[in-house]
Amino acid sequence: MDIVPPTPPAPPPQPEPLKQLSDIYQTHCHWMTRALALAAKAGAAGEVPVGAVLIANQQVIAEAANRRERDQDPTAHAEILALRAAGMQRQNWRLSDCTLYVTLEPCPMCAGSLVLARLGQLVYGADDPKAGAVRSVLNLLDGPSSNHRLPVLPGVLEAACRDQLQQWFSRRRHATQTNCPSPTKGP
Ligand SMILES: [Zn+2]
Repeated sequence: MDIVPPTPPAPPPQPEPLKQLSDIYQTHCHWMTRALALAAKAGAAGEVPVGAVLIANQQVIAEAANRRERDQDPTAHAEILALRAAGMQRQNWRLSDCTLYVTLEPCPMCAGSLVLARLGQLVYGADDPKAGAVRSVLNLLDGPSSNHRLPVLPGVLEAACRDQLQQWFSRRRHATQTNCPSPTKGP
């Protein structure tokens, strides 16, 4: 007589609201991964690695990475370039139906621009303790100069975003030390 092993019980179905939350978070991670890839390319080109992707209806409207060094433009941050490209493409500066994914907390210039664009939602990865204008140093979005409120989700793929920046700065420090030995050390 064959012994039929008992079938393991099926896992309990996920409650629907939890499943929906999990799907939403997976979507955030998907777009942030794309922003991380843009940032990595910029980092390889000598820029501080920051990438941004602008989404509407689950489609990419515009994407960009930091180009400050390549363009010698102090305003060529990833967020600004993505907002400009989206406005040009849609012939409309209002982006209230869009979500911006960016790997680093926006600086004062970029946070102000998100308000001006009437952005629908901001999702970012790592906090910027030196220049973050969403919650780390300033909160421009909720400040008295802001005439637009937008939901913010910080910390999506936070570790990956932070590691990318830290590794880039660490490599650059190492390269600088290798290229410019301290005069006290001698030849
Ligand atoms: Zn910025």
